Amino acid sequence: MGDKPAVRRLIVAIDRTACKGCTRCLGVRACPTGALEDTRRGQPPRFHAERCQGCLECVAACPIGGLRPAEV
Ligand code: SF4
Ligand code: SF4
Repeated sequence: MGDKPAVRRLIVAIDRTACKGCTRCLGVRACPTGALEDTRRGQPPRFHAERCQGCLECVAACPIGGLRPAEV
């Protein structure tokens, strides 16, 4: 059996310097899978890559470009 080809998966990356912790990318407001979890007010969300489906709703919801598409 040969090696399986590497499968690339689309997720997002958080710019932790730019993020203002406004929470617009969280929960029902944007992320449908709970991949972005609120932490403390004013802090970047915690990202759970295993829950991310690459829909990029959070990228559209962020007013300052704090999230960008990324591949793993
Ligand atoms: S890309 Fe979609 S599933 Fe992934 S964190 Fe953003 S809103 Fe959630
Ligand atoms: S919407 Fe943007 S600035 Fe607000 S918490 Fe999410 S990543 Fe940070």
